[in-house]
Amino acid sequence: MDYGLSIWGEENFCIDGDTVNINHGNSPSILEISKNIREMGYRGPLLLRFPHLVKKQIETLFSEFERAREEFGYSGRFHAVFPLKVNQYPNFVHSVIEVSEGYDYGLEAGSKAELIIAMALTPMGAPITVNGFKDREMISLAFIAAKSGHNIVVTIEGINELETIIELNREFNEGCENPVAPGIGMRIRLHSSGIGIWAKSGGYSSKFGLTSTELLEAYEMLKRENLMHRLSMIHFHIGSQMGEIAPLKKALREAGNIYAELKRRGAEGLGAINIGGGLAVEYSQHRPNDNRNYSIKEFANDVVYLMQEISRSKGVDEPDIFTESGRYVAASHSVLVAPVLELFSQEYSEKSLRLKESNPPLVKELYELYSSMKRVNAREYLHDALDHMESLLTLFDLGYIDLEDRSNTEILVNLIVKRAIELLDSEDTGELKRLQNRIQEKYLVNFSIFQSLPDLWGLGQNFPVMPISMLSRKASRSASIWDITCDSDGEIAFDPQSPLLLHDIDVEREEYFLAFFLTGAYQEVLGMRHNLFTHPTEAVILFDEKGDYYIGEITEARNLMDILEDLDYDTGAIDKILKRNIEDSTLIDDAQKQELLGKLYLYLSENSYLKTVETVGEER
Ligand SMILES: *Cc1c(COP(=O)(O)O)cnc(C)c1O
Repeated sequence: MDYGLSIWGEENFCIDGDTVNINHGNSPSILEISKNIREMGYRGPLLLRFPHLVKKQIETLFSEFERAREEFGYSGRFHAVFPLKVNQYPNFVHSVIEVSEGYDYGLEAGSKAELIIAMALTPMGAPITVNGFKDREMISLAFIAAKSGHNIVVTIEGINELETIIELNREFNEGCENPVAPGIGMRIRLHSSGIGIWAKSGGYSSKFGLTSTELLEAYEMLKRENLMHRLSMIHFHIGSQMGEIAPLKKALREAGNIYAELKRRGAEGLGAINIGGGLAVEYSQHRPNDNRNYSIKEFANDVVYLMQEISRSKGVDEPDIFTESGRYVAASHSVLVAPVLELFSQEYSEKSLRLKESNPPLVKELYELYSSMKRVNAREYLHDALDHMESLLTLFDLGYIDLEDRSNTEILVNLIVKRAIELLDSEDTGELKRLQNRIQEKYLVNFSIFQSLPDLWGLGQNFPVMPISMLSRKASRSASIWDITCDSDGEIAFDPQSPLLLHDIDVEREEYFLAFFLTGAYQEVLGMRHNLFTHPTEAVILFDEKGDYYIGEITEARNLMDILEDLDYDTGAIDKILKRNIEDSTLIDDAQKQELLGKLYLYLSENSYLKTVETVGEER
């Protein structure tokens, strides 16, 4: 069983015996990497970042577009920027800049804070694009960037933004011998719209973009102000996670024709079309895989082909092509590894049986069924057991058997159903599916869905999940996953249509970790501190020339006091109160006070994820 790795994995991971490994360098297992970090004292969930996977995505994006350009003899050039809203975490953004060296890869900003990141980290000369609603200050920042030497384009979302640009241009360039201003892009309000849960970002009812009438008005304004040479780019974004290619083609035709029309009217500086993001990621763990019906190759071909066709038929130059794909670049690079703390129906194990010297005949019979079950008799014994259970429960109601007998009945029937499912694995009947549901196991996992997988909670987005060990052992427990928040939404329910099967383990004796994949796009910054669980400890995993992995930057989850400080508590005051309460307590002596203070300060310096103690004496 590969947990759908062949569907969502893109050959980034491989299964090697018991473990799932990184398909890069000397293929270390995720288990080994996680254990290594935990041995350094880090507990709770771990977010592993793999910059080589960011590199792979950027390389594929550029090479596919370069291939398509060559194939079609396209004369416009290809450029790309990373949209910061997808992931602004410093360890990630630094990796993006590092691995994209040589590609002239830039950053896209949608807010002032993001623009500051872009201005500080984009290599000089690589493109910066600015989208979203902007005020005077934000546009001023873009002028500062341009005057510092950055290659920056501000995309206007409305006429008022253009008015501000015109005003600021006077302010910043009055009397300058060498006037410098950002390039101007115009976001168009598409007639066509995307599909899927994120479709709102495109289309006529979209929050963003200029209508045809506004485009013409903007054009006239630029002409009047002698700024036509600044208009450099037409922009659109049809929405994220575009499942089908058809809406993109429609949008490309629309945008391409707008580009050509403006060009023919005399927009001499216009030379680029920015197709936004939307390139989808396959998150599905089960066939039919329906998240994306096209390949990156088809995507690149369609963009280049359509732009060429439109340019030729309208007799204008082929525009440079910009993309702002974020999800595609970031999603695969991070893996969340979280320890399983508990299995909730572990009481249904053989060792919990309380068999007596002499048991009721039907309980004895159940025990025999359980002990002598084989593949050939499994179905028959299963039916017998379910039948006996009905009788035994009736006997209990009538007062003929006691609570221990009833408990033994529950355990034995549970064990029999489990074993039957294992034995009859290949037979995919409705009955077995129903039984799966019945013996469903709840796995309590040390992480917060709200913090680490917010799109699962908010949008029902699936993220591939699998255990990182025991993969050569058969997993037969139908599993639902509980996080450690006290919120009943913090659950990934068992779905018989796309079942998650995990191993039957005893967490008292063995460690068991689950990994959640494709969490690198949007999840981190959308994650919320519900119950005050914070961004997990993160580690950057790098590879040396020999292919050995090593651990780069580690950023530990925030400690309890930092969390309170983030909420603007006066932590100094809290510290004093806690200390005084212990010191003033009349219930304990001085030695105990010292001991309690020591413990308190240790806890305050740690993060809020659970640390349960295993019987072997190790914390999890
Ligand atoms: C969000 C956004 C993107 C990135 O979209 P992805 O689906 O992550 O590729 C690109 N451009 C703009 C303008 C956006 O708002």
